[in-house]
Amino acid sequence: NTHHHFDHCFGNATLAGPDTAIYAHPQAVAALRDRPDALRRAAYEEMRAEDPALAQELARTELRAPTHEVVEETVLDVGGRRVVLRHPGHGHTDADLVVHVPDADVLVAGDLVEQSGPPAFEESYPLRWPDALADLLRLTTPATVVVPGHGEPVGADFVREQHAQLARQAWLIRAGHTGSAPPERVAAESPFGARPGLIAARRGYAELDGTA
Ligand SMILES: [Zn+2]
Repeated sequence: NTHHHFDHCFGNATLAGPDTAIYAHPQAVAALRDRPDALRRAAYEEMRAEDPALAQELARTELRAPTHEVVEETVLDVGGRRVVLRHPGHGHTDADLVVHVPDADVLVAGDLVEQSGPPAFEESYPLRWPDALADLLRLTTPATVVVPGHGEPVGADFVREQHAQLARQAWLIRAGHTGSAPPERVAAESPFGARPGLIAARRGYAELDGTA
């Protein structure tokens, strides 16, 4: 599981057999194991207006907690193929995990990289997200196929561009916080637009205030 958001882990009980190993970061394991009702409720609330039927299904989805924790990095041998599971640091959440398959030059990035829309900042750490992407970029080559959490596969150049935008936004948040600017003013300059920018600014301010 790349993290604990419903659209990335609510299939566990369907896709995994009773003996299937499921890997996740400890924070994602804890969320699925200790707070399934909270996850179901959050999923329901998120989809209620957009798709009421789906929201109902999410509210009664059987969840299965991961069986193995990846604190920083775990290397698996999958039929002779090396597969690296890595937590590159706080970013989209505090529990992001990526899957790197070196011999195929493929990197599954979860929601640390999004192609079909702006990054989602609701549970994010916008000041640390750039470092997480820098960590991922060290794994890539010019030919790496990066599978984002949403949208079409991209290349390392796309990740580099998103890293630059996140770094710019982090700088804006720090400068705004230092100057006591309202988060709305920071959001107005966000490379991702005012709405995502406002969520990011509020999260960044909370980080700087020690309340995130
Ligand atoms: Zn997510």
